[in-house]
Amino acid sequence: MFKALVLNQHDKQTLATIEQLDDSQLPEGNVLIDVDYSSLNYKDGLAITGKGKIVRQFPMVPGIDLTGTVCESSDERYQPGDKVVLTGWGVGEGHWGGMAQKARLNADWLVPLPAALDGKQSMMIGTAGLTAMLCVQALVDAGVKPQAGEVLVTGASGGVGSVAVTLLAQLGYQVAAVTGRAAENGDWLKSLGASRIIERHELEEPARPLEKQLWVGAVDTVGSKVLAKVLAQVDYDGAVAACGLAGGFDLPTTVMPFILRNVKLLGIDSVMCPYEKRMAAWQRLSELLPASFYAQACREVNLEEVPECAEAITRGQITGRVVIKL
Ligand code: NDP
Repeated sequence: MFKALVLNQHDKQTLATIEQLDDSQLPEGNVLIDVDYSSLNYKDGLAITGKGKIVRQFPMVPGIDLTGTVCESSDERYQPGDKVVLTGWGVGEGHWGGMAQKARLNADWLVPLPAALDGKQSMMIGTAGLTAMLCVQALVDAGVKPQAGEVLVTGASGGVGSVAVTLLAQLGYQVAAVTGRAAENGDWLKSLGASRIIERHELEEPARPLEKQLWVGAVDTVGSKVLAKVLAQVDYDGAVAACGLAGGFDLPTTVMPFILRNVKLLGIDSVMCPYEKRMAAWQRLSELLPASFYAQACREVNLEEVPECAEAITRGQITGRVVIKL
């Protein structure tokens, strides 16, 4: 028997309870994992509270991220004892996820835990960190050079934004961090490597088709009018990696930045990211993130505390990462 957080739906309300399950109840898959840690993402918060349509069928074990040790495998790539990490692939949405002491998964979804990381560190990174790495790599691949000027990061105090600030600073970029919580989080963002802080409201003014060129590149987690403003301010031949919709999923822009300034808009998805690219991103994360990143605010909770934390994350009341010890 093992312990799991299980979501059920009654009268359109999502209920989260701790249950004792056995292996026979787990979904199909070719690798059985003893889960060590999961992490709490905004998406998990929406799933657990029922505030967002994340879960595709009930009962569901939430948890879009997990790390653990293989205990059974019929796939030749994984042997009992191997340490693995999983993010994305619809796990915790359509297939039982990480908030249980055991998970049965498809080997294609896994990556080996990089040698330089322990399980808890990998969950401090999680989907948010992987997404940030994919954004930064996209800017590098698009030719954005550290010496060329400042790179902007929007939604900087969020999970994705804060790792993007850290990674860009480690790579020698000058980083301007956009936040709606400058008083609260400005010093922390500077400690991660931001060279200056920009108030969110400055980016929320309606954008003209083209504005003064300010940024050699950008990582945008916000979308909507903020992304439109960023596109209008990016330098000739610059690039913007867009991964999020914290401010809305619309994009009230024009073609002008693309056709007159050669600006590139790079779409980033971490959920279905193919193995080779995913593996390379985890390797790079393990090399680039400094020890100070792991020493930053991280709350470790047990399964019983998850529903309360899920409510808090949907209200924007969480700072730093929450990892769940199974
Ligand atoms: P968080 O909730 O941790 O952070 C989002 C940040 O955006 C907040 O901390 C806040 O930063 C800022 N923000 C919040 N609301 C608004 C608003 N209304 N207008 C402008 N800024 C706002 O989320 P994550 O960092 O985990 O994710 C960021 C986005 O990326 C989300 O939309 C998420 O869905 C998406 N995502 C996409 C992935 C992909 O594969 N494409 C994977 C993971 C996440 P501050 O207080 O500093 O302003």
